[in-house]
Amino acid sequence: MAIRCHQCRREYDVTLFQFGRTIHCACGARVGLEARVGPEVTHSEPRFMVDAMLGGLARWLRILGFDTAYDPAIPDDELARRGLVEGRHILTRDRSFPEEWRVASCTILEHDDVDTQLREVLERFNLKEKIRLFSRCGACNTLLKPLPREEARDRVPPRVLESCDDFANCPGCGRTYWEGTHTRRIRARLRSVLES
Ligand SMILES: [Zn+2]
Ligand SMILES: [Zn+2]
Repeated sequence: MAIRCHQCRREYDVTLFQFGRTIHCACGARVGLEARVGPEVTHSEPRFMVDAMLGGLARWLRILGFDTAYDPAIPDDELARRGLVEGRHILTRDRSFPEEWRVASCTILEHDDVDTQLREVLERFNLKEKIRLFSRCGACNTLLKPLPREEARDRVPPRVLESCDDFANCPGCGRTYWEGTHTRRIRARLRSVLES
């Protein structure tokens, strides 16, 4: 099957355009297929796929409860493919990405600062009311499960067991979470992101 340039009608083989890749035609026009949207695209909650430069943002989005895929070694074609197949909005720092890849949904983040990036995403996707803090593992994106006190006994330091009532466990990577100085820091930082 051949794809024609809309400008000069030159033909290109369809296999050149996998996962939304576009090419420059000899006439200067961009040639590509319309992005195909995966079967799972109509989630009520947005799902994200962030590029390799947005690891800090990925962690934040997960901590706030948003399904966010991130792999620091992911190549662009895989980023585009997973965006389409899994119905994820792609967040990228790479300005040329949406031109080189026709994906269903892609947002370029202009800032290096993680707090600013987070504010931008929360506003753009209208997420402030949908935050479920500490519902998802920041390290691996899995939904956390409550961990009964008895089971937390072997997993946390004794002083933590004495001072905390609520524990959570990540079924994905096995990490144990509890309310402590770390979570207080996160709450404080989130407050400043939401208020400014
Ligand atoms: Zn052309
Ligand atoms: Zn985990």
